Amino acid sequence: MHGTRILEEAGRLMTVCNSCRYCEGLCAVFPAMEMRRSFSDGDLNYLANLCHACGACYTDCQFSPPHEFNVNVPRTLAIARTESYAAYTWPAAFAGAFARNGLVISIIAALSIAAFIFGFAAFNDRQVLFGVHTGPGAFYKLMPHNAMAALFGAAFLYAIIALVMGVRAFWRDIGEPIGMVADPPSLWQAMRDAGELRYLDGGGVGCFNEDERPTDRRKVFHHLTFYGFALCFASTCVATLYHYLLAREAPYAWWDLPVVLGTLGGIGLLIGPAGLLGEKWKRDPDLVDQAHTGMDTAFIVMLFMTGFTGMALLLWRDTSAMGPLLALHLGVVFSLFITMPYGKFVHGIYRYVALVRYARERRMMGHG
Ligand code: SF4
Ligand code: SF4
Repeated sequence: MHGTRILEEAGRLMTVCNSCRYCEGLCAVFPAMEMRRSFSDGDLNYLANLCHACGACYTDCQFSPPHEFNVNVPRTLAIARTESYAAYTWPAAFAGAFARNGLVISIIAALSIAAFIFGFAAFNDRQVLFGVHTGPGAFYKLMPHNAMAALFGAAFLYAIIALVMGVRAFWRDIGEPIGMVADPPSLWQAMRDAGELRYLDGGGVGCFNEDERPTDRRKVFHHLTFYGFALCFASTCVATLYHYLLAREAPYAWWDLPVVLGTLGGIGLLIGPAGLLGEKWKRDPDLVDQAHTGMDTAFIVMLFMTGFTGMALLLWRDTSAMGPLLALHLGVVFSLFITMPYGKFVHGIYRYVALVRYARERRMMGHG
């Protein structure tokens, strides 16, 4: 007996697959499954988060619908994955945010943007809000640096605490606690697997999307999104070091490192999420958790908006549009931060932890 209906179904499918084993070369899920004879709820949540949703095992399966065995591993694991996000949420009272995630994220984003716009209007007179400000410290004429740093620092810290608590719950559930942290080879192997999206290639042929012809499009767009986000984050970190260590205030010149990193990251956040949205639009509905497409869409749109508002601010920062654009960008980024633990962002964290466990299991079995 399993704790939920979807885990019951996942347990049934893994039992069928463990007898069949046709898909063992496609990804990490099937080799991890073969290491077990029975499946606890934690095992199934681990396998669900190890799945990269490439769709290959549905296309290849001789038991997929209309066969009476009704085997649909990608969709079943996708639903189990989403339910696991809610189960690990901290604080638990916010678990419901995953049920109507698109609506929740939209409301928080709208409120955050409105708060920055009204805040800027309330604390600055018209000449400052719509004035032209250039050179070092221009942004801080609209909002003092210390206030900006305190607000975003607090939002970031809250997101980190909530994510760490979620990972702690995941660790406990999958029965793989502290040992993983002290296993650098497994941590490194998982970082490489996650960085390459090694298991989003259907065993080497590509990802299945709208039909039975695999392609690498989802992988390419995901890379652009992930590395775009990472570059934007690096840009913010370098700018913080500039401010506190070198006493150099933003905005910086086009050729300066924070701007170069932010520009490359911003381009990635425009092309990657737009491409992912296009692929999602076309995707075979049999492969996805249709009840939660709003969660995926909301997160992708937030990333696109982060890139879009950041690039708009960069292009028009020397004009009178700078004030409103800064308020818009800060509102989007603030809402992205505080909703991180309650949306699709968590998939990257839990999948990484699942990959660490997989690498560790393989090493313990003498495979790597
Ligand atoms: S998905 Fe289908 S073909 Fe693949 S292992 Fe399971 S039952 Fe076999
Ligand atoms: S959808 Fe892809 S990653 Fe997920 S279990 Fe099937 S083959 Fe593996």
